Amino acid sequence: DLVVVGSANADLVVRVERRPGAGETVLGSDLATHAGGKGANQAVAAARLGAGTALLARVGRDAHGRLLADSLGEAGVDTSALLTGGAPTGVALITVDPDGNNSIVVAPGANARLTPEDVERAEGLLAAARVVSLQLEIPLDTVAAAVATAARNGTRVVLNPSPPVPLPAEVLAACDPLVVNEHEARFLLDLAGDPAADASSASPEQWAEALLATGPRSVVVTLGAAGAVLADATGAARVASPRVEAVDTTGAGDAFTAALAWRLGLGESLTEAVRLAVRVGAAAVTRPGAQESYPTLDEVAAR
Ligand code: ADP
Repeated sequence: DLVVVGSANADLVVRVERRPGAGETVLGSDLATHAGGKGANQAVAAARLGAGTALLARVGRDAHGRLLADSLGEAGVDTSALLTGGAPTGVALITVDPDGNNSIVVAPGANARLTPEDVERAEGLLAAARVVSLQLEIPLDTVAAAVATAARNGTRVVLNPSPPVPLPAEVLAACDPLVVNEHEARFLLDLAGDPAADASSASPEQWAEALLATGPRSVVVTLGAAGAVLADATGAARVASPRVEAVDTTGAGDAFTAALAWRLGLGESLTEAVRLAVRVGAAAVTRPGAQESYPTLDEVAAR
């Protein structure tokens, strides 16, 4: 149903009393190693919900790459398009202090070696999918190639532009929807020189409408505990999130986007798909971690 094209990282997390400054060494907790990266997160979230999901990504021929392949496989993700080699597996080095503030260094590694040629070789997979879901933790050329391949084959494109960069017009034009959080929305509206980027004077509905005017077929702006706003040619609407006790919002946006992409592929309207996505996002914040926090469809239904 769904192909995710994106990143796969090993997240290496150490809890510290104080994050070190320049030239400083601090001792921390035992190392915790988690499967992460936005691409892998989305693929795991979708598969856990029951979506037939494949991940096109690149990892190193190393222990972190094997960890990722195992965790994807356990979640039920099709890893036949998980490529290996060329560089070490992408790693995020994360220190977290007792207030929950973190410092993160990302070594993109193999993610930066996922090429347009890799995408072209996977054309059959992209052509057979109903939806392809993309983020920006892989080269922009590769994203553009995946978008072009999807467009050529009638596969719907969902893009979360994270981390945000200026997007080529043809990439923007294919997004249906473009999925952004408030930070990404502001970044893209600033680029467009749009006064709607001024949060104090614009509502999220106005942000979504202003983003729609930059080219995508539809837009979804996620608003954390406040849910999400969607906009397409028929207008803008808000979908509230269920009220939950949030313990860890890491990876909530990835779970939201995965659920949205899957439901759109099943033929639901954007409104129907966002209604499920906010419930999946809300469920994901009630448990610690990213992939570890993702619910099954039964768990979402039981809430
Ligand atoms: P990101 O994680 O990309 O910054 P958001 O914070 O907007 O994105 O969260 C994505 C989705 O996750 C929201 O639309 C909502 O459905 C859910 N969510 C996030 N935080 C909360 C929260 N505190 N309570 C309920 N739902 C939440």
